[in-house]
Amino acid sequence: CGIVGILGKNAAAPGLVEALRRLEYRGYDSAGIATAENGTIRRLRAEGKLHNLADKLAGDMPEGKTGIGHTRWATHGAPTERNAHPHMAGRVALVHNGIIENFAELKRELSSVGAVFETDTDTEVVAHLLARELDAGKSPKDAMQSALGRLHGAFSLAVLIAGEEDLLLAARRGSPLAIGHGDGEMFLGSDALALSPFTSRVTYLEDGDWAVLTRAGARIFDATGEAVERPVKQAAISY
Ligand code: GLU
Repeated sequence: CGIVGILGKNAAAPGLVEALRRLEYRGYDSAGIATAENGTIRRLRAEGKLHNLADKLAGDMPEGKTGIGHTRWATHGAPTERNAHPHMAGRVALVHNGIIENFAELKRELSSVGAVFETDTDTEVVAHLLARELDAGKSPKDAMQSALGRLHGAFSLAVLIAGEEDLLLAARRGSPLAIGHGDGEMFLGSDALALSPFTSRVTYLEDGDWAVLTRAGARIFDATGEAVERPVKQAAISY
């Protein structure tokens, strides 16, 4: 029930866990992170409390400086490690809060063209949709736009792509998501509290917005695909 993302200067994993701790108050049944390094993605997930994930990381800390993290409140699929986010397909790893209402129809369509599903979640269809668009040669931005056009429901998303270590994609439709502006670093979080370990300069995405983040900044688009400006605000929270 929480999303975080980091485009950082140092290994992202400790910061991802730190940010997820700030979202524990929302409740969750499992947690996971994915980081990008050397053209590949490393993923670690665990059932139950965040310390289970932190324990796994302790002996095996990923070095990638770009990453996403999630605390899950299962809606589709049991709260197991296999169903924990991030979900992966092709070059894509992503985390999702909310519900993809038309997932069953998308799953049938994707299965019929060869996608192999590994989980019982509604989320995994989004990873396959994006992976197919990228495989067809679309840019990450264009892939995101066409995938979002296929989804029904209320959700937020953060996407990491193997080999794209200066990139995160994000979307907000009915479930909150904020961008944090650091100094040569960028962050994503379900709320300003998640971003508070890193920055108090926050842009709240509006409903229907989606964004392309690099360390240089964020490009934000509305539901129609028009580039839009959203203000950078000073978050009132400091912990
Ligand atoms: N519907 C997704 C799932 O069950 C996301 C749940 C959430 O918001 O954490 O995995």
